[in-house]
Amino acid sequence: MNVMEIRDLSVDYLSNSGAVHAVAGVSLDLRRGEILGLAGESGSGKSTLAGAVARLLRPPAAITSGSVTYHRQDGTAVDVLALGGNALRAFRWKELAVVFQSAMNSLNPVSTVGAQIDDVLRVHVPGMSRDDRAERTTELLKGVGISADRRRSYPHELSGGMRQRAAIAIALALNPEIIIMDEPTTALDVVIQRDILHEIRTLKDEYGFAVVFITHDLSLLMEISDRIAIMYAGRVVETGTAKELHRAPRHPYTLGLLRSFPRLRGPREELLGIPGTPPDLRALPTGCAFHPRCGRAMAECSSELPVLDDGVACLLNGGHGLESHDRS
Ligand code: SF4
Ligand code: MG
Repeated sequence: MNVMEIRDLSVDYLSNSGAVHAVAGVSLDLRRGEILGLAGESGSGKSTLAGAVARLLRPPAAITSGSVTYHRQDGTAVDVLALGGNALRAFRWKELAVVFQSAMNSLNPVSTVGAQIDDVLRVHVPGMSRDDRAERTTELLKGVGISADRRRSYPHELSGGMRQRAAIAIALALNPEIIIMDEPTTALDVVIQRDILHEIRTLKDEYGFAVVFITHDLSLLMEISDRIAIMYAGRVVETGTAKELHRAPRHPYTLGLLRSFPRLRGPREELLGIPGTPPDLRALPTGCAFHPRCGRAMAECSSELPVLDDGVACLLNGGHGLESHDRS
């Protein structure tokens, strides 16, 4: 059962030198209660995609085509891209919440973490009593591993890990169905990162929300995700369960990403990485955008754009493509 469906979504950044296609024709399903990992190098479009579905994009970014449909538990379908005003504000807290990389940017520096959770509850649940709000605040903080007495702390009095936990507690305040986490733990120590991720899994199992977890660290995603989508140059190039991608990655870029990070478990392997740098979106290579860096590129890879088919967009092994001039 899907909680969100993204269909053929494209986002451009409008610049003096023309439009840059940051997200190009992405289709993805988010299932109820799953953790969907979104991986790719910086500039691959993952944050832009998340910003688009959360309706947080600002000019010069513009959604140029496609649809995003949110499915409520009761079966109603919501056209996310058509939401505005109060409906959009309600959607963004009650149905979908976002946790950003830098908790400092999403927390209010002059308000205690308890007061910030209380504010969200007061604004969005007008009938809730002060005592109920206090109880809920304590429960939320406990849920993310912050003791109740910390609710009187200001963000600057907390460690980086605690701030990130507080930001997660605020996002969970109204029981959203979807939480988007954009590199939420990147700035943190590896041990703290893993603690927080395991807590997110526990919370998810308890509350049943779905998570879109964005990071460039594929080995981290392998640990916590149910399914993973790999992005390159604005497109999804491979999707599969974490197990499938771990055991048998099919796209050469996925393989390169897997070799770019040390495994957290298992034998150490050489970090091979991927040669070259991510492409300039203003001047994308023709055909498969990955072809200049791909060790398996064939002649047709520079003229045919691979289509995502059965979870992979690559011309190897019978994959099919479009001639470059067919590209919209
Ligand atoms: Fe490599 Fe060609 Fe597959 Fe692109 S389509 S990933 S260049 S083999
Ligand atoms: Mg990003």
